[in-house]
Amino acid sequence: MAQAMLSKKNNTEIKTKIAVAHGDGIGPEIMKATLKILDAAGAQLEYEPIEIGEKSYLSGHTSGIDQNAWNTIKRTKIILKAPITTPQGKGYKSLNVTLRKSLGLFANVRPVVALDPYITSKAPNMDVVIIRENEEDLYAGIEHQQTEDVVQCLKLITRPGCEKIVRYAFEYAKVYGRKKVTCMVKDNIMKLTDGLFHSIFKEIAKEYPNIESESQIIDIGAARLAAYPERYDVVVTSNLYGDIISDIVAETAGSVGLAGSANIGKEIAMFEAIHGSAPDIAGKNIANPSGLINAAVSMLAHIGQTEVADKIKNAWLATIEDGIHTPDIFQEGWSTIKASTQRFADELIQRLGKKPKSLKSSQLQRGNGNIVIPDFHRKKTKKVLVGVDVFVDWQGDNPKEIGDRLKEIEAGGLKLKMITNRGVKVYPNGHEYTFCTDHWRCRFVGIEADTSAVPPMYSAIDPDRLILLLSKLHSQGIDVIKTENLYKFDGKRSFSLGQGE
Ligand code: NAD
Repeated sequence: MAQAMLSKKNNTEIKTKIAVAHGDGIGPEIMKATLKILDAAGAQLEYEPIEIGEKSYLSGHTSGIDQNAWNTIKRTKIILKAPITTPQGKGYKSLNVTLRKSLGLFANVRPVVALDPYITSKAPNMDVVIIRENEEDLYAGIEHQQTEDVVQCLKLITRPGCEKIVRYAFEYAKVYGRKKVTCMVKDNIMKLTDGLFHSIFKEIAKEYPNIESESQIIDIGAARLAAYPERYDVVVTSNLYGDIISDIVAETAGSVGLAGSANIGKEIAMFEAIHGSAPDIAGKNIANPSGLINAAVSMLAHIGQTEVADKIKNAWLATIEDGIHTPDIFQEGWSTIKASTQRFADELIQRLGKKPKSLKSSQLQRGNGNIVIPDFHRKKTKKVLVGVDVFVDWQGDNPKEIGDRLKEIEAGGLKLKMITNRGVKVYPNGHEYTFCTDHWRCRFVGIEADTSAVPPMYSAIDPDRLILLLSKLHSQGIDVIKTENLYKFDGKRSFSLGQGE
């Protein structure tokens, strides 16, 4: 990012090169309006256009981007991107997810502010920033069909991923003068994955004693965020929850056409509107360019051009206050001009240098956007293998039948401890009402383990035993679809118990 900062040489301001993607649908219209505003405001930028999205997909690049575009992005390190259309049908990967993950854009930052009464909002005092983890969770996109009945998506939560995003949220709060960070997780159910996110949040929060911290379970958190967004300041959460709650708050503020988002990585950052390419209104010159304008404002703050960022943001607020509204936010009797996309941009340009009369004016100058996250250092832990979950495809419906059969197989010094179906224990001593699919998780542990102790005492086993067990199961005609090793890390059980185990 240092190269992207505004600098002066021989009294001439050096322009920051940025990659610009004009996008699909309404993309080119809102990008044209946004670039016109950036130029008029005096942003020190040099644009390098890249071709990504629909045309690239249809010319044979299944991820929607070609090598030239990658090269430009890696050189400029900053991207201003209009929305793109992902073609319908299988085989096309989402370009957004590809860009975020390939470029290490770990933090998705969405500030949402209500502009009531100028844009009617259900929560007139909301001013919230959602900071969403951007690279992992269920969006790892690792899915498999395992049996006729069952498909699976892997939820991957990592220590480096959690540390980066949680620290980013606290640093963001510090830099931008925010008072509180709320963590949203579902660790009452997902004790290992969401539990890791939550425990890292609590660890890191202690390093920021001047910033209030709180945690909420995502379901009640999302409900309260929708009902009382003004009670929140910065919210940090994992990828899927963040995707959902950021749309909830944007909609509560008045329109999806208003909010911009930043995708921040260690070296590269991408700025875009939160909405899509809106093909239903493309080419009509009626799209609201505000989301992309706000994204461009965040970009300017990120590269250190905070003065011009505040100038554009204040002119935008003044334009909205004056009732110059695109059709999506136009209110009869309240708005003064139903503006086209380009007219909105022209009206904003006329207001450059002005501040809003009653809305809170922009103070991006306070933050320099230059948040540095330390590199991750892995701590050494002691990992001990204590068993294996063998997943079996079996189309019977009586758990006792498969349980009694597997109980007889004591291969390599491993014994069957229990069987679950969709996580619920069905053998031994299951309930007759539990619905069973054709996907059985059969837990094998060392014969020395004391599984009747509370909590169970597991013994270390040799990995060779797993191979013997699998070979025996195979020879007995058991259809093994996958295995998952059971470990203790630093003496702690590191796998979940079955419900009812
Ligand atoms: P969308 O956000 O494009 O549109 C949803 C609704 O909001 C539509 O009625 C649209 O007219 C309206 N809308 C959106 N932006 C607006 C604006 N600036 N001004 C006024 N009204 C606006 O969502 P969608 O219809 O689900 O998706 C359309 C396409 O966009 C799909 O191909 C999808 O894959 C893509 N998409 C791209 C991105 C991105 O590039 N970041 C994000 C989301 C969706």
